[in-house]
Order: sequence, then structure tokens, then C-alpha cells
Amino acid sequence: MKINQNYLDLKNSYLFSTVAKKISAYKEANPDKKVIRMDIGDVTLPLCGAVVTALRKAVEDMSQKETFRGYGPEQGYDFLREAIAGYYAKIGVALSADEIFVSDGAKSDIGNMLDLFDRDNNVLIPDPVYPVYRDTNIMAGRRISFIEANAGNNFLPMPDQAGSADIIYLCSPNNPTGAVYSHEQLKSWVDYANGRGAVIFFDAAYESFVGEAALPRSIFEIPGAETCAVEFCSFSKTAGFTGTRCGYTVVPHALVCGETKLRDMWLRRQTTKFNGVPYIVQRAAEAVFTPEGLFETRKNIAYYMENGKLIAKTMRELGITFVGGETSPYIWMQCGMDSWDYFDMLLERANVTGTPGAGFGRAGEGYFRLTAFGTQEATAEAMERMKALKKIDPAF
Ligand code: PLP
Repeated sequence: MKINQNYLDLKNSYLFSTVAKKISAYKEANPDKKVIRMDIGDVTLPLCGAVVTALRKAVEDMSQKETFRGYGPEQGYDFLREAIAGYYAKIGVALSADEIFVSDGAKSDIGNMLDLFDRDNNVLIPDPVYPVYRDTNIMAGRRISFIEANAGNNFLPMPDQAGSADIIYLCSPNNPTGAVYSHEQLKSWVDYANGRGAVIFFDAAYESFVGEAALPRSIFEIPGAETCAVEFCSFSKTAGFTGTRCGYTVVPHALVCGETKLRDMWLRRQTTKFNGVPYIVQRAAEAVFTPEGLFETRKNIAYYMENGKLIAKTMRELGITFVGGETSPYIWMQCGMDSWDYFDMLLERANVTGTPGAGFGRAGEGYFRLTAFGTQEATAEAMERMKALKKIDPAF
């Protein structure tokens, strides 16, 4: 056999597993210490009532001969695709249900979408960013350039720094920086991509955190995006589906390469390699878009955003420079030292964890990500510990 040698170019472990291993080792050595985890972006609130009711009903459907479902359509049931199209319609984006593909989450689709593209493409990835974009392209052996998100560009890199990109990743609200592109900024990216015949992979996993702010939740709010963009979205953060698993990807009919529709290629790919999301999970996801589901999920997001505000307030009190936290669930703080050293220091001295910025890319060095997805009690306690640490060590 011959292995895919590109795997040897990957760093030997995924960022979040390295963090988890360090925390386990610390806890094993210090069983009496109560560590507060503000590192991984997992949710802490349970599924909302509307979702649980739909799940129970769907289980009941599966138990009766008349309503039992076997294999479903690979691209998702119409009831869910239409509910998703309805959600887009509310922000003024007209999509047909057959441009929407339901999946087990955004992570798989982000990786799988690369099946449609030749190895010979220039890939442009923001730095720092969600590590999956980089690693999936390393696995495929593509040329990658990074575009720096830094204080100088308000953590929102623009096409003037883009060079000659064919596949462009944008994540807004951003993980890890929390920065959100404006309509005008996204329009520049759309014009750039259309001008070059490039494709934008737009990751909208955190769109629901934009709330009422006058910022785009979808790239398809931007005129012209339908001819250059694919959008990935997820129920993970919007509705607490990190363990339930459901997401969706939008591939517009108008997105073509020569004569070939990418939407048709994606349908072909999914019908060949994917067998759909469980019926009960799709019913649960459908419930997110009911009036009760929307009300309850918004309430949960508001809960996390209270954490975001508290972390931001604490950062201001401590005189720490940061971004994010108001239209995103992440706070990107300047830590003023090597970010893994800061991780170790905070874990040992405050028993609080975060994610070292360096794990999100070279430009993330010197920064640290705190999540707002914890419980309010744990977040408040973590902030008190950070303040106490500052009192005994003003250099912190
Ligand atoms: N995209 C971004 C930017 C993320 O941060 C995450 C998860 O943390 C995902 C996608 C993955 O979403 P899912 O749980 O739907 O696979």
C-alpha cells in the first residue's frame, strides 16, 4: 500500500485534543482543584423544549408501522429544507429548497466540499481561524496562503491582501476572533471572487450571535454572492446540537464553473458518499424554526451573550485589549506572552483554561481565546479568579 503522504505534513494532534490532554494531566496531578474550562467552544445549555418535544414525537413516529421511516433523501427531508429556506427568507435571502443540503454538521461539509475541487487550486485561509480549513487542505496537498487577521485590519482581512486565490475561506462571526464582516466588506470579497472566478467558502456557524445587529448573517445577503459562494451553517451553536449533530450547506444553482453547476456536483457527491441525517434529528432541527423554537433558542443565545458581556467587562477592568463578545460567543484577548505559556500559567495559577491563540494559526500567537458558552456561574467564578490573579500579579 501507499499512504496519503500529505497526512505527514499535519501537526501531530488537533488543537482541541492537545488542550484536553493538558487539562486531564493537570487534573490527574491536582485532583482537589476545580478547573473552569473556557477553552472548547461546546455549549452547556440543554436542548430547548420545542426541540425535545419534536424529538419525542419523531421517536414515536419511528415506533409505528404507519409512520416509520427508513432511508431518507440524502440531501435532507423537504420539511427541513423548506423550514431552512423560510429562515433565510426572513433575512431577505430567497433560496429554493433544492439549493439546501442537510448534513450531520458543518465540520463534515467543510471538509467534504473539497471533493469538488481540483488539487491545483490556490487556497486562501485567514490566520487565525478554525483549524479545520487548514488541515483539510493539507490532507489534500493543496497550496495554501494565509491572510493575516490582526489589530491593524480589525481582525477582518480584505481582498487587497488576497493575492491570486481560487478557494477563499471566510468565517463571520469569526472563530476565534469574534470579528464580524460588514455588508460592504463582504461585498468587496464577493466582487473579488466573481472577478477572478474564485469560490468563497462562507462559514456562518455563528450567525445567530449577530442578533439584531445590522451585520450580515449570510453571504447571500450580498448581491452577486450566488455566483461565487457556498455557505456552511450548523444547528450546533444556534440550538445546542453539538451532540445531536445537524447542519446544512447552501450551494446555489447560479454557482457554476464553465458549464458545470457545483450544486449538481455536490448532490452527486452526497448521494454517493452520504446517507442522510436521522429522521428524528431532522424533526428536531425543524422545530428550531417554529415560533417556540426560535423564542427558546434566542433565549439560550442571550444567556451565552450575558457571559460574553461579563468577560468583556472583566477584560476592560483588567486593562486587557480584546475583541469579540458582543456579536459572537468568543473573546479574543491579547495575552502579552507566548500563548501556550499563558495557557499553562492560567491553568496552574487560576485553574481557568482558554485556547492558546497559536493553535489557530501563526498570527494567533500572543492572543488567547475565551468562550462564552460556559454556565453563567462558572464564567462569573472564572472572571473573579482572573481578577484575583491580577491583584497578586499586576504583570498578568
Ligand atoms: N465552523 C466553525 C467556525 C466552528 O467553530 C465549528 C465548531 O466549533 C464548526 C464549524 C463545526 O460545526 P458542527 O458542529 O456543525 O460540525
